[in-house]
Amino acid sequence: MNVKNLMTEDLLKKNNMVIDLKNLTIKKAHDSLVTGEYTSVELATAYLEQIKKSDKDIHAYLSVFNDVIPQAKKADEIIKSGKAGMLTGIPIAVKDNILIKDKIATSASKILENYVATYDATVIEKLKKEGVVFLGKTNMDEFAMGGSTENSAYGPTKNPHDLERVPGGSSGGSAASVAGNMALVALGSDTGGSIRQPASFCGIVGLKPTYGAVSRYGVMAMGSSLDQIGPFGKTVEDAEILFNVIKGQDRMDSTTIPDKKDEKLSINKLKIGVPRDFLKIGGIDKDIIQNFEDSLSKLKKLGHEIVDIELPNLKYSLAVYYVIVPAEVSSNMARYDGMRYGKRVSGATGIEDYFLSRQAGLGREVKRRIILGTYVLSSGYYDAYYNKANIVREIIKEDYKKAFKKVDIIATPTTPGIAFKIGEKIDDPLQMYLEDIFTVPINLAGVPAISIPSGTKKIDGKDLPIGIQFIADYSREDKLFFVGKNFLGEL
Ligand code: GLN
Repeated sequence: MNVKNLMTEDLLKKNNMVIDLKNLTIKKAHDSLVTGEYTSVELATAYLEQIKKSDKDIHAYLSVFNDVIPQAKKADEIIKSGKAGMLTGIPIAVKDNILIKDKIATSASKILENYVATYDATVIEKLKKEGVVFLGKTNMDEFAMGGSTENSAYGPTKNPHDLERVPGGSSGGSAASVAGNMALVALGSDTGGSIRQPASFCGIVGLKPTYGAVSRYGVMAMGSSLDQIGPFGKTVEDAEILFNVIKGQDRMDSTTIPDKKDEKLSINKLKIGVPRDFLKIGGIDKDIIQNFEDSLSKLKKLGHEIVDIELPNLKYSLAVYYVIVPAEVSSNMARYDGMRYGKRVSGATGIEDYFLSRQAGLGREVKRRIILGTYVLSSGYYDAYYNKANIVREIIKEDYKKAFKKVDIIATPTTPGIAFKIGEKIDDPLQMYLEDIFTVPINLAGVPAISIPSGTKKIDGKDLPIGIQFIADYSREDKLFFVGKNFLGEL
């Protein structure tokens, strides 16, 4: 199936009415719901039909819920009573590492096969209050470790623009669900690029919020000092609406920060910094560079000022990230012991059970990181690796601090390449890690960043998406939304 077919099939006829899922936004859907043009049940049905049609090929979902229609009925009641919020009745997909009470949450791992969540993540609680309709849980790299969704224990997700290619990862299922019109918006998590890279590969918008802006309570921890939950949408406005609902300080996550009062952005011409030296590192696809330069010209035409900036220590980011992340992973993964929850391989007695369960239940990438992390945290190496990485992390933060004294926004490509073929990088972890070159420094610093579609490149007859990444200072998501909307012509 090619993307053209997918799109015409999206115009689903429902009760003599066409719901154009491809061009649907939260506001459009909200308007139609409150004016009675269609009901939440009809909207949810349209998405379920699209899932039925497309997902056998794309495999964005690990589970589609059997209570979608009852949820939509409830939303319809709220709408009828005149109490609908912007998200009431809006169908949404959720990455499988985020807990929804009474629903299976596997994190795409065998070790959590059939694990049923016992409570709601804070973000889910907030969305439930709004009356959203949860369609299901999406595929991902196991425990969010990876950049292609190939590390899922349940098979890879395909890119809706080319089924031979990856959708990116680790939130590849969420990105593909939105890009394939199988959900209006979706939630993902981003530790080193897992929202922005799949957004870029799938041609949609993805936001990694400021560290602490969104509660991590109820998301399965990967790298606790880097993880953030964030939204996917086809438009910047959709991502913004979703972000505004899920953000906020939470007593269940002590790293959350107080919500910034929505100040109105007083300027509309921004100073955009480009770290030219950092872009000169090798290995960046020439189509990406060309697209990025074109995007900069477009930004200039829109009236923004483009200046060169220096971020001299960003070149150490990948090395630092791949010490800190495995260290945190090795600690966070210790809880999956097959005894308290998840898969248990028994037969042996005592500690052997633990070894057997982890051996059978965890995939290669997860094991690789546990081993690496245990090594960098072991006595004798702790100072040489883990401590040093943390020191360099502070230096990287300083780079951003200095830069944001001079500019409002920093722009880079989101990824060094276009969506690659399934199987192309899976046996070369280093190649896979290099995918994250532009995204991991942001998580190390904790600042927010957004990936915005910036064009396509025709390869093998398919139009493959490219993304541009905008980065802002702490809690300045408002600037990201402004520049993103301006860039996409949403303003
Ligand atoms: N691809 C990166 C990694 O494998 C990022 C993952 C993520 O953000 N969860 O660590």
